[in-house]
Amino acid sequence: MIKKVKIIGAGLAGCEAAYQLSKRGVETELYEMRPKRMTPAHRTGNFAELVCSNSLKSEDVETSSGLLKEELRIMDSLILKCADKTRVPAGSSLSVDREGFSLKVKEELLKRDIKIICEEVKDIDGESIWIVASGPLTSEPLTRSIERLTGKNTLYFFDAAAPIVAADSIDTDNAFFASRYGKGEADDYLNCPMNKEQYSAFYEALVSADCSPVKDFEGSEVFSGCMPVEVMAKRGFDAIRFGPMKPVGLYDKNNVRPYAVVQLRKENREATMYNLVGFQTHLTFGEQKRVFSMIPALKNAEFLRYGVMHRNSFVNAPAILTNTFALKTGERKNIFIAGQLSGVEGYVESAMSGLVASINAANTLMNKPPFILPATTISGALSKYISESDSRYFQPMNGNYGLLPPIEIKDKKLRKSAYAERALNDLKVMLTEGRN
Ligand SMILES: Cc1cc2nc3c(=O)[nH]c(=O)nc-3n(C[C@H](O)[C@H](O)[C@H](O)COP(=O)(O)OP(=O)(O)OC[C@H]3O[C@@H](n4cnc5c(N)ncnc54)[C@H](O)[C@@H]3O)c2cc1C
Repeated sequence: MIKKVKIIGAGLAGCEAAYQLSKRGVETELYEMRPKRMTPAHRTGNFAELVCSNSLKSEDVETSSGLLKEELRIMDSLILKCADKTRVPAGSSLSVDREGFSLKVKEELLKRDIKIICEEVKDIDGESIWIVASGPLTSEPLTRSIERLTGKNTLYFFDAAAPIVAADSIDTDNAFFASRYGKGEADDYLNCPMNKEQYSAFYEALVSADCSPVKDFEGSEVFSGCMPVEVMAKRGFDAIRFGPMKPVGLYDKNNVRPYAVVQLRKENREATMYNLVGFQTHLTFGEQKRVFSMIPALKNAEFLRYGVMHRNSFVNAPAILTNTFALKTGERKNIFIAGQLSGVEGYVESAMSGLVASINAANTLMNKPPFILPATTISGALSKYISESDSRYFQPMNGNYGLLPPIEIKDKKLRKSAYAERALNDLKVMLTEGRN
């Protein structure tokens, strides 16, 4: 009988998972390959190293990232506890002393009965319960092993995500539902038309906008499979009018073919989020907001996630994971994938997935029912999204309000308060009912 859980990676997800398992009395082994073997982005051998920004984003509970943090605090997250103890002044965001944060995480883990093994894991055996939390820069041999387990074409190495906007922030007076040449369902795409003047202004802004810096280890590899819209635009004034903005087969409410069109596709079944089809981009977030808001239907758009293009290993979660972060395949239910590798995006989101995966690993050991968070929480909604969204278009996702079941309140501020209140209330009810 398997009694222990082996975790691969002492990053945000792996450290959170180790803490949660040891709290529940589960024998835990935590494997970390650094500093013996480094990744291209980590700089130290520290646990839970923040590879880039030292900010865990907003603290305000009426923002989706603030709400996610509050949910994690309620669930006694190690990552949140250590971040709170090592915070540095940063207005309304939770930013930490990077080194102090990592040391605190390790200190807390060393206090507990966790076996820490400084080794690279190259293969996953079928005998143990595993939590694979090896992150966006998973080492090569382990990548091959995961591929053998999950099947071919389930693992990706680069993010090429287009921006996603909130459905209720789209100006539908300036948009129309139609699919090209009338093929498919009439509401498959929400089309944002432009006339020549609007397109020209948009084009000029797009080709002169600022891009994010490319990391040394990314180079041109990142862009080889999927061309950013701004790079395509630089090939000529009409290049994107023959590409993602082509108007052929589309007619607006007056039966007129627009000069150019941006197509929006539903990102979830509830149609609360739409992505800009073919708009994978490497523009800075500020420039995405400025330039894409020039699309008339998106003039007041709320960007739930910005487009990114960077190196990132992740699995096609809807094809292979459940909302407990376990592999769907019957005989592999002992294997959980957490963190960025599971298709969530961000430091706090990674910690959340480590928490949910580890409680489920503990429950598997103890023959307890699965730990599934309410879909009204950001944590539960994100777990649901990564396991249930359309696997044909899957790209990693952050925690955001567009994932939640909608609440029909017009005023944005009041609506966000209502989301937060509902989420925290539902979470507390679930936890007091002892379902963890
Ligand atoms: C360059 C870069 C910049 C980023 N910037 C940000 C940002 O500013 N904000 C943000 O929210 N997110 C950012 N991210 C995403 C970020 O990586 C995640 O949010 C977070 O670190 C993911 O946590 P994780 O636990 O999944 O992975 P990690 O924190 O990377 O932890 C994975 C761990 O697994 C170890 N490991 C890998 N393979 C093996 C193996 N075979 N055996 C043993 N150990 C192994 C690694 O050494 C690492 O310590 C960035 C990612 C990259 C690549």
